[in-house]
Parts: sequence; C-alpha cells; structure tokens
Amino acid sequence: MSAEVIDGKAFAATIREKVATHVGRLKEEYGITPGLAVVLVGEDPASQVYVRSKGKQTVETGMASFEHRLAAETSEDELLGLIDRLNTDPAVHGILVQLPLPDHLDSDLVINAIDPAKDVDGFHISNVGLLGTGQKSMVPCTPLGCLMMLRDHHGSLSGKEAVVIGRSNIVGKPMAQLLLGDSCTVTIAHSRTQDLPGVVRRADIVIAAVGRPGMVTGDWIKPGATVIDVGINRIDAPEKGEGKTRLVGDCEFDSCAEVAGAITPVPGGVGPMTIACLLANTVTACCRANGLPEPE
Ligand code: NDP
Repeated sequence: MSAEVIDGKAFAATIREKVATHVGRLKEEYGITPGLAVVLVGEDPASQVYVRSKGKQTVETGMASFEHRLAAETSEDELLGLIDRLNTDPAVHGILVQLPLPDHLDSDLVINAIDPAKDVDGFHISNVGLLGTGQKSMVPCTPLGCLMMLRDHHGSLSGKEAVVIGRSNIVGKPMAQLLLGDSCTVTIAHSRTQDLPGVVRRADIVIAAVGRPGMVTGDWIKPGATVIDVGINRIDAPEKGEGKTRLVGDCEFDSCAEVAGAITPVPGGVGPMTIACLLANTVTACCRANGLPEPE
C-alpha cells in the first residue's frame, strides 16, 4: 500500500473538540445552549443507529438533544405539525429529519417545511439555491466533511480535476458545488456515464458516492490521486462467523490504496466527519439565530 490513509475518525474528534469549546463559551458568556432536534419516522435499523449516534455526540459536546421517534404510520399532517413546533421552539437551533422517510411521506415537502435557518442538513431548497449561487448557506454535512478532509490534505484545491461519482441531492450534487466553489474542474458521473473508469482515471480527486460495494478498483485511479469513499455498504462477512456482516465503501480499498496518494477508509473516513459537521452546523445555526460571531 502506498496511499496515506486519511483518518476521518481523528479529524472528526478535533472538530467535536472545537464544537464543545464553542458550546462552552456560548453557555458561559451568553447563557445559550445550542439545541438539535432529530426526527426519526419508522424503525429502519440503519437510521436508528445513526440517530442514536447523533444524539449521543450532541450531548457529549454539551448541546441539548431532542429526539422525536415517530411510528412508521405517522401521517404527513402529524409530521408537519411537529416540524412547525420545532421551527418556533427557541431552544431548537437545528432540525434534522432522518432520511429515508417511509414511502407514504413526501420527503421534499417535509424537508422544505423546515425553517431554512434551522436546516442543519442543508437540504432545504433555499439552502440548495444559496449553495449553488455561492452564498452563505447551511452546507450538507457529508459533502462538507469531504471538503474539509480535502482542504486539510491538499491546502488549495484550485485547478484540480475532480470526479464525483453519484448525483444525489444529498451527496453528489452538493459535493460538486463545493468543489466548484474551491475552483476544481468538476465532472459528475452517474449510472449513465460512458466509460466510467476512463472518466475516473482523469481525476486528481475522486469522490465515490454510489452505494455499490467495491465498485471503484485500483486500475481506475490515476497514480497519486486522492480518493474519498462516501459509500457505506453492509456485506456478508463469513470470515467473521456465520451470519456476520461488515461495512465496506464503494472503492475496493486495497487495490485503490496501491495507486492513490491518499484514501479514506470505510469505516473511519467520511462517516465520522458527517456527524461532526452536523454538530458544527448546529452551533453555526445557533450563532446566526442569536446574531453572534460564527465559529471558524
Ligand atoms: P443514491 O442512491 O441517492 O445515489 C447513488 C448515485 O450513484 C446515483 O446518482 C446513481 O446514478 C449513481 N450510480 C448508481 N450505480 C452506478 C453505477 N453503476 N455507475 C455510476 N454511478 C452509479 O445514494 P446517496 O447519494 O444517498 O448515497 C451514496 C452512498 O453514500 C451510499 O452508500 C450511502 O450509504 C452513502 N452515504 C454515506 C454517508 C456518510 O455519512 N458516509 C452519508 C450519505 C450517504 P443515477 O442518478 O443515474 O441513478
């Protein structure tokens, strides 16, 4: 292996420390406790794990965590009613509705009902528009975490060739906007892209956000490129025992690490950064709501 492994877990810990310091200052100097409300509808096991982890880390950094667990059959009106209450609750500075929602609920409608100033996931159409036009917005947590790791590793990203695989509203598209904002030359690839390996081979920076275990292999990677693996895929792991599973990314780690200059592991790469950025966004939202200087 030649690549440097980018330690998202350690980086996320430094962000959480900064968040905790800022939260301490907000409490001491202004008597304000930032609050994050997380809404979970239904019992999707992966979502339950994420929500638990978010709540735990919110409390660990000194913020208030408000968890709302609703039954899978919750109606749209009930959910919108809850969001309305959270929008006007002064103790709540950030609202996150865990996706995916059950099929009978319209995610776009629900997300766009959140006050954009409290939309710490950055999915509200206003925040999407602000990001797209380079204005101050709430930036989606996963792409923000990827950008922070890239800036930390490279310093300037200006002029770099970046290929984002995946065009979802929550990862691929905002990731591309952020890279463009940092003056990369950006290509967004997707399931209809022709000669995907050839496209990826051009990239100084590869962001894989697909949801296909090990799809990107070392022979797709330009020597020395930086590979950010967003994918989280649970696969069978018979080597760990019967019925056991493990998490892998969208990039085949060993073969990509042979060629890349740097790579994020799964787990321990983008995942921890995502939650750390959520906490940071909540503090930012709290500062903006109170007209206070934002953390750097
Ligand atoms: P989506 O399913 O919404 O999007 C997947 C994208 O991949 C689509 O744009 C799709 O193209 C594209 N795609 C699918 N198959 C191929 C293929 N064979 N070749 C090229 N492109 C392809 O997923 P998300 O963006 O929500 O998530 C992507 C991955 O990232 C998942 O594994 C998810 O679990 C993970 N994730 C991780 C997070 C973290 O914190 N680390 C946070 C969020 C997601 P098309 O549009 O043409 O269908």
